[in-house]
Amino acid sequence: MTPDQPQPILPDDQPAAHEQPLLDRYAEFRFQTVVASITDYAVFMLDPHGNIATWNAGAERIKGYRMDEILGSHFSRFYPADAIAAGRPAQALEAAAAYGRFQDESWRLRKDGSRFWASVTITAVRDESNELRGFIKITRDMTERKRVEALEAATRRLDVFIATLAHELRNQLAPLRHTIGILQSLPPSELGPALTQCKDIADRQIEQLVRLVDDLLDIGRIKSDKLELREAPLNVRDIVYRSVQGIQPKIDARGQQILVRLPPGPVIVHGDDVRLVQVLYNLLDNASKYSPNDERIEIHVRTEGKVVAIDVVDRGIGIMPGAQESIFNLFEQENVAERHAPGGLGLGLAICRKFVDLHGGSITADSAGIGKGSSFTVRLPAAQPDPAFETAQKAPAPSPAHALRILIVDDNRESADTLGILLQIKGHTARVAYHARDALPLAREFAPHLMLIDLSMPDISGFELLQALKASGTAPDAFHVALSGHVRSSDRQETADAGFHDHFAKPIPLDALDELLARVEDDARRRGRL
Ligand code: ADP
Repeated sequence: MTPDQPQPILPDDQPAAHEQPLLDRYAEFRFQTVVASITDYAVFMLDPHGNIATWNAGAERIKGYRMDEILGSHFSRFYPADAIAAGRPAQALEAAAAYGRFQDESWRLRKDGSRFWASVTITAVRDESNELRGFIKITRDMTERKRVEALEAATRRLDVFIATLAHELRNQLAPLRHTIGILQSLPPSELGPALTQCKDIADRQIEQLVRLVDDLLDIGRIKSDKLELREAPLNVRDIVYRSVQGIQPKIDARGQQILVRLPPGPVIVHGDDVRLVQVLYNLLDNASKYSPNDERIEIHVRTEGKVVAIDVVDRGIGIMPGAQESIFNLFEQENVAERHAPGGLGLGLAICRKFVDLHGGSITADSAGIGKGSSFTVRLPAAQPDPAFETAQKAPAPSPAHALRILIVDDNRESADTLGILLQIKGHTARVAYHARDALPLAREFAPHLMLIDLSMPDISGFELLQALKASGTAPDAFHVALSGHVRSSDRQETADAGFHDHFAKPIPLDALDELLARVEDDARRRGRL
C-alpha cells in the first residue's frame, strides 16, 4: 500500500462494505482519501491496545516511518525512554478511553532517533454499543513553534537586560559628566594645554557614551511600548534650528557645512519637539559621520499638500542598493568596510523610524549607490493652522519682508556657524568669516547690510577690523554690531566711540536679535538698499 491510496480507517471487524448504504461508503471513501493525503498532521488509528492500524502521508513525513514498517507496532515506540518508563503511553490511552479525548504536548521520537516537540490528541472511537474499537491519534510537529517561543523568551530577557544595563550605566555616567563640567568651568590657563586637551577628549567621549546609553534606554522604552509623546503645535524651523545647533560642534570639527532651505512662512506640525529634534539630529549626525571632511550637508523643508517633508541630503559614502529599507532595522549596519568614522551600534535609524511612526509620519532613505551620497526624508502630517499659535510664533521670529545680507566675523566657529544658521532660518543670507583678515575681501564682495563682529579675535581685533573697513571704504552702508563675552556700560561706550552701531553679549538673546534685524531692515530700506 502507498500513502496515496485510501486506507481502511477502521479495523477489520467493521461491517463489510457491501452492507453499508452507497452514500455511507462514498463518505467513508472521501474521508479516507482526505486523511491519507494530509501532510501537516500525522493522522492514524490505534487498535484498543495501542497498536498502529492505519498510517497517512503526514505520519510518514513527521515520524519518518513508511506504512509497511510501522503497521502493527505499538505506538509507544514514538515516546522517549523516560516517558515509557513513567508509563505515559498507557496513561494516555486510559485517559482517552475514560474521557473520550486526551491532549498533550511533549517530546516524541522520529525513526532516526531525533526528538521533536509534538502536540498530540488521542480520541477514543466507540461503536453503537459503546464498545471501545480503537483510537484516532493526531500528532502535529511543533518544534518550530517551540523554537520561536524559546527565541522570543530569550529576546525578552535580553531586552530587560539592555534596559537594566542602560539605567545602571546612566547612573555611573552622571557623576563623570558633572566632573567634566567642573573641569570645563576652569580657565584653560589653570589647566595648561595638555590637561585642557585631555579634558576635551574626555568630554567628547562621555558625550558619545551618554548618547549611546540614551539610545539604549529609548530602545528599551520602544520594546516595552512605554514611549509617550508630549505633543504640541511646533514650527518646523525651530526643530530644524535646534537640531542643527546641537550637531554644529561635530560638523565644525570635521570642517563640514550645513545648508538649510526653508519655505517662506511658518510650517506647523503637531508633535513632540524633543523627539523630532532627536530624529533630525540623528540624521544629521549620520550625514556627517558618513561624509568626508569639508563636505556640505543640506536640509530642505518642503510642503507636499498636507504633508511636511524634511530632506537631509549628504554627499557621503551612500547606501548599497537594496539596503535602503534594512538599515532601519535594529542593530543593522551597512557599508561597514567603507566607514572611516567610528560607527555606533545601529540603533539610531530604528529609533528615528519609531519616533516618526508615532507622529503618524514616515521616514525613507534614498541613494544612487555606494559613493553617491544619501538622502533621508522625514514626512509628517502638516497641522491645521492654529491662529493663536501662529500669532505667538510670528511675534518672536517674523519672517522678513526682505532678506538681509549678514556677515558674521568670529574666530569661534561654533558660535559663528550657529548664528549663521539661525539667520538663514530666519530667511536671511548669512556668510561667515572665521578670521578678521578674510572679512575684508568678503565684505567687499558680499556688500552686507549687517556685520556682526567679534571683538576679541587672535589676528586682528574687532576694533581694528572696523577701522580697516572704514579706512578702505568697504561696505560703507553696513550696520556694524560688536559681539563680546560680556558687556559693561563702559564697553558699550568704547564700541560706540569706535563707530559700532550696537554691542551685544554672546549669544545674542533671540528677541534682541529680532529687534536688531527689524532695525537694520528699516535702515536698509531708508537708504534704498532693499
Ligand atoms: P549607526 O550609525 O550607529 O551604525 P544607524 O541606525 O544610525 O546606526 O544607521 C544604520 C546604518 O545605516 C549605518 O550603520 C550605515 O550603514 C547606514 N547609514 C545611515 N545613515 C547613512 C548615511 N547618511 N550615509 C550612508 N549610510 C548611512
